[in-house]
Amino acid sequence: MIMTAESMKEAIVDRLETTLGIPFDQATERDIYVALSTLVKEQVSKNWTRTTQTYKKQQERQVYYFSMEFLLGRLIENNLLNLGLLDVCNEALQELDFVPEEIYSQEHDAGLGNGGLGRLAACFLDSLASLELPGHGCGIRYKYGLFRQRFVNGHQVELPDYWLKEDYAWETRRGEQAVEVRFGGTVEMNDNDGKLTFHHKDYETVLAVPYDVPIVGYQNKTVNTLRLWSAESSSDDFNFFGSDRTDYYNYLEYKRSIEQISEFLYPDDSHFEGKVLRLKQQYFLVAAGLKSILRSYKKKLGLPLSSLPEKIKIQINDTHPSLVVPELMRILLDEEGLTWEEAWEITRKTVAYTNHTTLSEALETWPTEMVRDLLPRIFMIIDEINERFCKGLWFDHPELRDQIPELAIIAYDTIRMAHLAIVGSFSVNGVAKIHTDILKKKEMKMFYSLYPQKFNNKTNGITHRRWLLHANPELSAAISEAIGDKWIEHPKNLIGLLRYVDDKSFQEKIDSVKRYNKQQFAKIIRDQTGIIVDDHSIFDVHIKRLHGYKRQLLNIFHIIYLYNTLRENPSLDITPRTFIFGAKAAPGYHFAKQVIKLIISVADMINSDPLIKNKIKVVFMENYSVSLAEKIIPAADVSEQISTASKEASGTGNMKLMMNGALTLGTLDGANIEIKDMVGKENSFIFGLSADEVLHYYNHGGYVARDIYNTDDRIRTVMDQLINGFFGSDEMEFKDIYYNILSNNDEYFVLKDFDSYEEAQELVDQTYRNRSKWMQMSITNIAHSGKFSSDRTISEYAAEIWGLRSTTV
Ligand SMILES: *Cc1c(COP(=O)(O)O)cnc(C)c1O
Repeated sequence: MIMTAESMKEAIVDRLETTLGIPFDQATERDIYVALSTLVKEQVSKNWTRTTQTYKKQQERQVYYFSMEFLLGRLIENNLLNLGLLDVCNEALQELDFVPEEIYSQEHDAGLGNGGLGRLAACFLDSLASLELPGHGCGIRYKYGLFRQRFVNGHQVELPDYWLKEDYAWETRRGEQAVEVRFGGTVEMNDNDGKLTFHHKDYETVLAVPYDVPIVGYQNKTVNTLRLWSAESSSDDFNFFGSDRTDYYNYLEYKRSIEQISEFLYPDDSHFEGKVLRLKQQYFLVAAGLKSILRSYKKKLGLPLSSLPEKIKIQINDTHPSLVVPELMRILLDEEGLTWEEAWEITRKTVAYTNHTTLSEALETWPTEMVRDLLPRIFMIIDEINERFCKGLWFDHPELRDQIPELAIIAYDTIRMAHLAIVGSFSVNGVAKIHTDILKKKEMKMFYSLYPQKFNNKTNGITHRRWLLHANPELSAAISEAIGDKWIEHPKNLIGLLRYVDDKSFQEKIDSVKRYNKQQFAKIIRDQTGIIVDDHSIFDVHIKRLHGYKRQLLNIFHIIYLYNTLRENPSLDITPRTFIFGAKAAPGYHFAKQVIKLIISVADMINSDPLIKNKIKVVFMENYSVSLAEKIIPAADVSEQISTASKEASGTGNMKLMMNGALTLGTLDGANIEIKDMVGKENSFIFGLSADEVLHYYNHGGYVARDIYNTDDRIRTVMDQLINGFFGSDEMEFKDIYYNILSNNDEYFVLKDFDSYEEAQELVDQTYRNRSKWMQMSITNIAHSGKFSSDRTISEYAAEIWGLRSTTV
């Protein structure tokens, strides 16, 4: 085991010269990274094997977290940190005359996710291993992760993210554990003495090959597994090779079509796209994952299948993997010969479902025909589940007879995946209190009345190890200096900081850490954009996917208003501010891309206007990602969480920023509400319509955006600037934004909330002038952030949904 900087240095040099064949004095940063990461992986391997063996022997319950996305970011620092080797390694690299960050950044972010949902899955894996819980991830090894974003003339351009170009240090290919997944074909039904059997034939076989990534617990011996599946053609497909030359070309085409399945991640996290390839990906994940779970269950335990729910729980991250329900049924019925009742009992006790959104455009509804063609047997099973469910409603709930079409799993030639997931699971959870309440009271009201015991809340969380301990070592050190380092194991201990809220020297310490982080990030801004920002200004941060409901538009409208005000009165006394954006728009989301273009146009204009005298700057950082987030968040003063109330299920960016001492400027939406409840209204900047008010307007009308346009001069000026050529030569460039608001009546209430947002922003400006007050608020936020550690979230899942016990390796 490596323990000291000295032995780390020796090991790196030795690895370079013996294994890689590179003399140390010729080693590039990439070479050092390769030596280091393979070294770390070896350190992990023994405990990885031991963990797997322990779970095998113990026969304790295990959880599998099925998710189409795992937004891991880089693992090198995280693994070093959890192994207790990060400081040692930093020292070793420095002594070798390398800058540690330059070495670590050789690792390509594993960007196998769009945003919050995929990042949540990654935080959960970290917490599972750190809490010594037997829980694993199951996902897809996309060849291309989320696109890389570039700005060209202010427009977003998407570039492929070929993250596997160089070997991925952390994965292990397990070819011997590959499984087959079947698509297409037909189903033959036979009657064997009254018992129906189903024979699937003429299908196409896809080989699913697992690549395992170790998930290292924090300073314990647990190393769980993230299993990512890759699609390959089975090489023994000899029936293609006839005498005809075209057979070979057909074969190559066939091979390509199969590898296509794990080729890329769909880059949209809020619009359902009914593409058959996406459906293939979903079934591929589910079928491969279940097959490997059942194989090891049967091999090691020798238990009857009826005990499956005792030993295994499957959590599905949104409805994307909800085909686990019919696929598990298929295995139990067709391969294991169980009766429908037996199979249904097992399935329903095994699967649990997490809902992530109430946005109707995000709901998954697959055309029946598509499912029937691609997955004929699965379709039959869904159809049967639906028949039995509807029959049950008819007989057992006569009061709901009129509602059957609304509740059905299949209706109007589409399959409603959320309904399938609710009916086929034992737990349905939302991801923040308000979100779960909306599910119960509105979105899933009737299902709630049917199955009240299934519904529960699990407010999201983030791993404080990555987002505080690793991302902000200076703040972490200052915290430990004040309250000791027990908070690292028990993040709720951060509450001890409340004793230091009024302590001037602690305030100054936290202030100087924030200043330092801002200076560091100002350098990154300068290097990447050429923009010089004032590190004494307020760093006002709006980072998340670009979407109408997240209202980057409200932010930029306010900035334009501020700019207009300053142009009229250049000597206006405002607190200097740097507005920082980071966001990717889905490639096909025209409106979102226009908003990016608008923000960049405004930024160009303001940043180069001498009248503004550097009082405000606007920066849009390219390619928002986990690694970039880790640099922005420690430098943030203000956390923009300004979604249209009721639309953001939880948010997790809000938690990361709070934990790093940023103050929330937000609506009463998602977990913002729980943040506000913890820190108090006086330690946050809350504004805008409530969820109830928004929902009331949606249901009963009464809001007319044009009235606000007509009566509020500030807003009319800003809106008109969109179409009068103010931001450049093309007058019509932003017309779609203009008309989206006025003709579609501003579906996200941007104009409606403008006034109260402006007021809140004014309060931010005033409050920041009193540094001591600001630091009190900031420290209060950090103190309460322990609740939002994903350790808390995962403990709740383990206790209340999974019944999972920790296992010390
Ligand atoms: C945390 C995170 C998100 C989610 O941010 P929200 O503000 O909750 O939408 C998205 N992308 C990345 C890279 C993240 O780290």
